[in-house]
Amino acid sequence: MYKKLINISLVLALSLLQVFSINVFANNDFETNSQYYDKLCKGDNLNESDKAMCKLYGDYLKNIQDELQNDLEQNELDRKKIANNIEQEVKKIKEYDKQIEILQVENATLTSEIAVLKTEINDKQAEIKIKEKQVIQLQNKVKQRVIESQKTMRVNKYIDFIMGAKSFTDLIKRTTGLNATINYDEQTRIDLADTIEYLNEIKAALLIDKDTLDNKLIQLQDKQNKLEKLKNDSLMIKEEYIKKEAEIEAKGNQIAGNIEDIKNKLYQNFESIDDIESSTAFTKPTTAGRITANTWAYNNGGVHLGLDIAAPSGTPIKAAGNGVILKSVDGCGVGYIGSDCGENQGGTYGGGNQVYLLTQVNNILYAIKYIHLLKGSPIDVATVVKAGDTIGKMGSSGNSTGSHLHVEVFKLGTMNPNEYIDSWLKNPLLHFDAKSGEAGLNNLCSIKGPPCREKPEVIFGY
Ligand SMILES: [Zn+2]
Repeated sequence: MYKKLINISLVLALSLLQVFSINVFANNDFETNSQYYDKLCKGDNLNESDKAMCKLYGDYLKNIQDELQNDLEQNELDRKKIANNIEQEVKKIKEYDKQIEILQVENATLTSEIAVLKTEINDKQAEIKIKEKQVIQLQNKVKQRVIESQKTMRVNKYIDFIMGAKSFTDLIKRTTGLNATINYDEQTRIDLADTIEYLNEIKAALLIDKDTLDNKLIQLQDKQNKLEKLKNDSLMIKEEYIKKEAEIEAKGNQIAGNIEDIKNKLYQNFESIDDIESSTAFTKPTTAGRITANTWAYNNGGVHLGLDIAAPSGTPIKAAGNGVILKSVDGCGVGYIGSDCGENQGGTYGGGNQVYLLTQVNNILYAIKYIHLLKGSPIDVATVVKAGDTIGKMGSSGNSTGSHLHVEVFKLGTMNPNEYIDSWLKNPLLHFDAKSGEAGLNNLCSIKGPPCREKPEVIFGY
């Protein structure tokens, strides 16, 4: 009776403390005095009121962690938006480049066409000059002849010239010859003038062609300049986005760092870990479902270090014993064969969403690995759980084709859980030093001591 009374007063004291603590919580005492609480809660042999306070402080830290997690997710959304914008600009730039390249080819063709035309025009110009010279020469020649003949006529030498003919035939020859020569020269001059006119016409046509091409080239260059400007604008916008993305990434890293700090604090502040009562038996992850693959080897060969149990997606997964969540991995959607999801999230390659539970059963420390869980279902790291508590839901994340749980059991030995956590945090191996793959088979508890792998079928009694 006396004992009962003490218990009741303790409960009362604790509940009073709780009310008081909530006020403290509201007054942000945890924030201003976090160093005090960190130190207090790290210590051993806490009295009941300190323990209750530390539990509240842990809740406060978890709240902050949740808020930071939300910030991180929002930040990631922002980053994705920016990354999408960058992608859009890159697409635009590529399109501009393509168009500019086409214009450059057109430009080159036009330029060479214009060069050909210029040569032709120059050729024609040269021909015209030659013909013009010939015309002038002929004109001079004809002029000279006429002057000569007029001179002759004036001094009456023309008669002499004609009379000087030795015969009538010679006379005919002399008179018609002179006319014929003059006529011939005149005809040649007319022909040459025609040729010059013709050449000038060709030259004019060529000049018109050249003008057309020149205009085309100017338009093309104008188009190209406009595209270059658009491209430069896009490049500048892209640069701005890249800067922004870097800022967001830096912010994300900072938030992630803060979350990491809080997680470490939560680990350190786990006064409750000392209080974890060793379980006396293992609790099956699920009583529903059927075994689809046994441990150590698949039916068709190949190493398989865990037990596969298939049940509908969303089936609750139970904690094997009293303990604490050492690691929690989330963020993988429905998986597929060959998916690596889980590794980038800090867990095992292809394991999808994962929970690693540290538990004590009959005073022996075990780690239980639960993988392929439903997205959003793994409970937070550093959460203290009791045997049978739901630690996540069955899913098919990571390298998996259907809703099932893959569970592995590691026997760690008889050390104190706090000490184990301290050492594990320094080297957080997800195979708990009992190796993975083929090498895992050399670390079975049937052939060596801890750390070693136990057969889940035997441990859970499937
Ligand atoms: Zn499996």
